[in-house]
Amino acid sequence: MDARDHRAYLKSQIALKGLPSISLTLNIPGYPKSNPTVKTFFDYCLRDFNYFLKAQLVNLFDVESVELSDEAGDFYLVPCNPGNLTLDEIKRHCESFEQTHPLGRFIDADLNDAHGNTVSSGKSKICFFCLEREAIECRRENAHKPEELRAFMFPKMEDFSRQQYENKIVKKLSSLALQAILAEISLSPKPGLVDKFSSGSHSDMNYQTFLSSTSAIFPYFSELVLAGFNFEDNNLLRALPLIRRIGLRMETAMNESTRNVNTQKGIIFLMGLALFSCGKLFSQGERFNIIEFRAILLGICRNLVRNELKESSPAGISHGIDIFLSYGYGGARAEAESGFETVFKYGLPKLEGVAQLTDQPLIECFLAIAANNMDTNILYRRNYEVLTQFQNLCKTALGNFTDQNYCAVIDYCKAENISPGGSADLLAVTIFVWSVLNTKIL
Ligand SMILES: [Zn+2]
Repeated sequence: MDARDHRAYLKSQIALKGLPSISLTLNIPGYPKSNPTVKTFFDYCLRDFNYFLKAQLVNLFDVESVELSDEAGDFYLVPCNPGNLTLDEIKRHCESFEQTHPLGRFIDADLNDAHGNTVSSGKSKICFFCLEREAIECRRENAHKPEELRAFMFPKMEDFSRQQYENKIVKKLSSLALQAILAEISLSPKPGLVDKFSSGSHSDMNYQTFLSSTSAIFPYFSELVLAGFNFEDNNLLRALPLIRRIGLRMETAMNESTRNVNTQKGIIFLMGLALFSCGKLFSQGERFNIIEFRAILLGICRNLVRNELKESSPAGISHGIDIFLSYGYGGARAEAESGFETVFKYGLPKLEGVAQLTDQPLIECFLAIAANNMDTNILYRRNYEVLTQFQNLCKTALGNFTDQNYCAVIDYCKAENISPGGSADLLAVTIFVWSVLNTKIL
């Protein structure tokens, strides 16, 4: 049985059950009828077609649908139950899908009645290539060479699929970054930090303040991913001003939502870099790879500490500069310049093998980060000795996790009025990386 006979047979099998069926195919001139470009485009069309029909309340028997790719090309067939709809109405929905899809002229969405016969609306289509004559005439007379038609169609299909892929990546990565930030904020109890039940060592912010500022900065996540996805300059250093420009707008949004309380300046910087780098990475391929991700980060942040701290303005401009001048620690900038070394060396290993996030591994992950991070938030509020003591308590709790040892960290932060905000930011970034590694992105 050849491919066309096989399709007719499948339609007749559905007709035997007394049901109409809907099919989706592409108009591909010449041979082969399918290739990776065509198949990817077909898959995106099929997904949209399904949503389109279901939104019009067309009842499809999904479980009995057939999808195949053979010498006649890509093909989808599904039985449907007209329910309250007439066949004419369903046919109009199929036509409407073709007409509203950006490349609908390449698509054939057909309806077959309960006898297996194609339902025609009697309307003719204009040839998508010459836009002059009826498609059926051009086809009958072979008016256009198949190679010409294919050269016209395939780049359009590729652009469409690329756009769909980009949309998916942007939505998915933005969502994972939001989830990571919310997971960090919600983790409770945390030493010195704002959590669900306590404002820690902060008098000007609480859990709700963080929800406000997170909501305020979230709409910019997609911009960061897109900027990375579309960044084509070989010199990654030129990415930094782009990221910073979006970051500054995020800071304004944060300040507006918190009445100028700095809840998330650190995470805006770090997650901004992470989202941009991920966007760039996924524009190059469909898989996340730690080495490539870090290579992009390293490229963007090369000499960041030297450029912005060592050779920058005098004291008093920012906390980061003051701490660098006093202690020589570069804070979030140094972490970025190292390609998130703390995240990959101390944080991520604690989430290895974790299938679903729960509080315990997240607390251990936080302790591992905090025990090793020269947290400039603590240095700014207090001094080197307090930071060292805090790190030692984190190490003890990590080595022997008991309520008592963890409470000792919490109590110490309370007594010294410190908040390891830098480590909290790195926890959020670690959760993000873990999510990207452990989630089906496409
Ligand atoms: Zn034509």
